[in-house]
Amino acid sequence: MPTIQLRFKGFRAGSTFAVLALIFVFSFGLMIGLIWPDQQRVIDTANRLQDKTVPEIIRYQRLARNLDQLRQEGERVFSGESSEERQQSMFIVTLVASHPSVLEHPEAAKRAREVERFLDGVARESASNPTIFANRIDEWRRLSSNLGTLVEDVSIQGVNLTSNDLNDIATAIQLARFKFNLAMIVVGVYLVLFLLLLRLHLIKPLQHIDQALTNLGLDQPAPDFKSATMSEIRSVQEAIGKLHGSLVENEAARQTLEALANRDSLTGLYNRRHFMAAAEAELHRSQRYCRPVTVGMADLDLFKNLNDTYGHAAGDTVLRVFATLLRETLRQSDLVCRYGGEEFAFFFPEITVTEAAVLAERCRAACANNDIALPDGRSVRITFSMGLADASESTLESALNRADKALYEAKRQGRNRVAVSGKPPAASVPEQTVEDYNL
Ligand code: GH3
Ligand code: MG
Ligand code: MG
Repeated sequence: MPTIQLRFKGFRAGSTFAVLALIFVFSFGLMIGLIWPDQQRVIDTANRLQDKTVPEIIRYQRLARNLDQLRQEGERVFSGESSEERQQSMFIVTLVASHPSVLEHPEAAKRAREVERFLDGVARESASNPTIFANRIDEWRRLSSNLGTLVEDVSIQGVNLTSNDLNDIATAIQLARFKFNLAMIVVGVYLVLFLLLLRLHLIKPLQHIDQALTNLGLDQPAPDFKSATMSEIRSVQEAIGKLHGSLVENEAARQTLEALANRDSLTGLYNRRHFMAAAEAELHRSQRYCRPVTVGMADLDLFKNLNDTYGHAAGDTVLRVFATLLRETLRQSDLVCRYGGEEFAFFFPEITVTEAAVLAERCRAACANNDIALPDGRSVRITFSMGLADASESTLESALNRADKALYEAKRQGRNRVAVSGKPPAASVPEQTVEDYNL
């Protein structure tokens, strides 16, 4: 039964932040919704204070003032010098007692009527009985004191009206302030959490990606990321991993191609094109630092005959074995290439032509004494001739031409020898003939 692999690819950053924004908007809206009724309560109470309570207070103040005036005029009725003065005060008492502000307050209306009746009675009797004021002063004191208490009560009632509303406003403001502070704390905590999430799941992974991209290179190991929570970041991390992989693959392919482009397919030696470029660069370096340098040209002797006798495949084997022998005999720093056919070119840095001749001679001897096993089981020996030329003060091309001429000279002298350009033949090696090779 096939198994279905569910791989968690992380949260999408866009959706995650949309959800977080929604939560923020919702919780902030909720807080505003909770604060709203308290704000409305403050506004309503303030309006009520202005429209109803303040006129009510004014009414109570007016009533208190009238009641106080009633008490003062009563005093004047008792203490008046003349009957005109008393009548005038009595007139004011009657006016005040029937004032609408007094009449609409039942307690005040009752007291005012009581005072008015008492004063009116006293004033009437005073015409026949002048001592009545002294006789009834105690009664008046009691009524006056009651009026005074009522004035205080009315004033307090007026003040109490405001304090109720003000208490209401204060309570609403306190509640609103508490809710606002709570909302601020919730928003603060939310923001801190949001920033932490941002840092942990977005900024830090981005910093790692930045670092990985800066260090991305063939000499560096593949970047090792901690799997990110956000799918977009994961995709970038995976892309960087793939990028590193393809960098390594491309480099390997490049090296393979370079090797193919630079080397001769039969012998594995450098080809002529690469040899010329490498030797040119090396020659510049040697000449800049005035270092000795030598070039050489070699050609297998009587190779055509070998081909004719043993076949072309045997010739190829000989070429491969000869190339191996060169690689083993020459120094690491020496350059050698298959120049074409059975011709080879050499570049010997850091040695004079005399020293190169010793090295070439060693090579020649090794080759001449080496039996080469052919694929058909037979074996064969070959020799080569070589020409050397000093390259320390000339171009590569002219040095190779001189080496080629020296090679021609070596051939002319009888093959299987090393000839140095501009020098007489060194050794008396016997001339090689077709018979020497069993060809
Ligand atoms: P000499 O000593 O004068 O150089 O004699 P030679 O026979 O070597 O003369 P020549 O340079 O004319 O002959 C070169 C021969 O090398 C001719 C050709 O058949 C052979 N040859 C060139 N390239 C290859 C190759 O890739 N494989 C094989 N088997 N033979 C090759
Ligand atoms: Mg030849
Ligand atoms: Mg040749």
